[in-house]
Amino acid sequence: MRYGVFSDVHGNLEAFSMVLDFFRASRVDGYICCGDVVGYGPDPEECLSLIRELKNLHIVCGNHDLAVIGRIDMEWFNPYARAATLWTRAALGEESRRFLESLTARLDHKDFTIVHGSPQRPADEYLLSVAQFKNNMSRVKAWPLFCGHSHMPVCFRCSAEGKVQALFIEDHQAIIGEMAPYGIVPVAYNPGSVGQPRDHDNRAACALWDSEARTFQVYRFAYEVAATQAKIRAKGLPEYLALRLAYGQ
Ligand code: ZN
Repeated sequence: MRYGVFSDVHGNLEAFSMVLDFFRASRVDGYICCGDVVGYGPDPEECLSLIRELKNLHIVCGNHDLAVIGRIDMEWFNPYARAATLWTRAALGEESRRFLESLTARLDHKDFTIVHGSPQRPADEYLLSVAQFKNNMSRVKAWPLFCGHSHMPVCFRCSAEGKVQALFIEDHQAIIGEMAPYGIVPVAYNPGSVGQPRDHDNRAACALWDSEARTFQVYRFAYEVAATQAKIRAKGLPEYLALRLAYGQ
């Protein structure tokens, strides 16, 4: 099976359309989404409509999705995130709200696991260090683990000897999840962010995962950032949310 893997769309329709076109052209068999479809961006309703049409979709909710439906409070959100959450809450239709309410924070498939942040704290922990990955390993039943939240394309890989490696994944770089004599070794993949990359590369990020070959390959796509920025301004969302898209941070 070949899956289109993506995360942190954040209501950015221009970026998401590029990624979906690529997945369709790649003839993927299914989709894995690590959450945060909404929040920050100007087109939450349109992005959720596209998500709901995807066949064989495996998806979890992120902290922004949960804030929009009032399941977590916004105490830890910065003022921009808070303003965008309130705007998104008002912009969503009934069907989209119900769809977000139907999502779980963790998805345990027989062939993989999906969370937004980390297995032990799906809604808030950023999986960024080897120590954090090790701390979370016992909470995963089926590898690989797919996560988002940090908006960085990264991989944590445990060798057959038990050594853990953290890798930033470049455009077109393929990572091979190693096989050990006793089965599949622990590996976590983050496809980066579709709608608000934060690795100083403003292109939309996504990945393809081949469950048989056990390869995970990241792809970056330039999209019309100015069009998304114009919508952010026209809809009265904070200016900072438009500016950060240009810098990829
Ligand atoms: Zn996010």
